[in-house]
Amino acid sequence: MLHEFSYVSPSSMDELLTFLEESGERSTVFSGGTDLFVTIRSGLSRPDFVVDLKGVKELGLLTFDPAEGLSIGACVTVNQLIEDTDVLRHYSVLRDAGSELATFQLRNRATVVGNVVTASPCGDMSSPLLCLGARVKLASAGGEREMPLGEFITGVKRTQIAPNEIVRAITVPIDHLDAVGGYKKLKRIKGHDLGVVAVAMITANDVSRFAISSAAPTPVLLPDFPANVEVAEVQKAAQEAISPISDVRCTKEYRSFMVDVFIRRLMEAA
Ligand SMILES: Cc1cc2nc3c(=O)[nH]c(=O)nc-3n(C[C@H](O)[C@H](O)[C@H](O)COP(=O)(O)OP(=O)(O)OC[C@H]3O[C@@H](n4cnc5c(N)ncnc54)[C@H](O)[C@@H]3O)c2cc1C
Repeated sequence: MLHEFSYVSPSSMDELLTFLEESGERSTVFSGGTDLFVTIRSGLSRPDFVVDLKGVKELGLLTFDPAEGLSIGACVTVNQLIEDTDVLRHYSVLRDAGSELATFQLRNRATVVGNVVTASPCGDMSSPLLCLGARVKLASAGGEREMPLGEFITGVKRTQIAPNEIVRAITVPIDHLDAVGGYKKLKRIKGHDLGVVAVAMITANDVSRFAISSAAPTPVLLPDFPANVEVAEVQKAAQEAISPISDVRCTKEYRSFMVDVFIRRLMEAA
């Protein structure tokens, strides 16, 4: 039977953050619910209060400013992101990765922030956001803080978020605006599936960046390379940086092999 909880729907940031401050670890926030309700149903999560973020209007904002970059509010869905004209024009790797996430119907609920906070090694949004130098903006009743995405995710399903805190937005700077690149994801089936291994790549301003998912406890961002780097050099750096495991979906050897294949394919296409 589903664990019993109270549904809470604040309509302002103040109301939301005050409630979280008072209820602490008894509360869990959600937006799309596509990850949270799976864990509640399986008994892995047993919150007393399930707090819906969608009533707070400012959390639904997706904005682009040519001087500041992109801001993806907590409730912005993956479909909103990948259909946005500024994202399509300036951050095409987000479109490439987002359109690989689950199905159209699921992407109408699933949020970009929820995907990042879940911190699953196979989450599709973290590696392209890492390539783009994304930052995470956190808010609590005590104030706000901000950190690079690479520091926010600390392990498998682990982040730096505190119980009284929410991710308000993820921001993407303009440093790699209009980068070319792409996202390659290995799945067990041709249709929609979680990634077995995936590689994101961008090239802009004579710099190439690569990030790899599902090949280590957290997504792995490789050091920057000059845009004319040899494929073998990137592959060598990738193999040194990843620590893949064998599981029900794939062997570690096949994961390593496919990382090399995807790096070569992405570089040839770019
Ligand atoms: C059938 C199916 C297929 C899927 N396929 C894929 C796939 O191909 N690729 C992939 O990457 N994922 C996939 N997922 C996982 C999931 O859909 C995504 O991770 C989704 O983006 C999560 O977003 P959400 O808004 O639904 O998160 P929610 O379920 O609302 O929240 C997820 C977690 O993050 C926390 N959280 C959410 N928002 C905030 C916030 N603003 N501040 C603090 N904490 C927050 C919640 O408390 C919860 O712990 C799939 C899921 C299902 C059910």
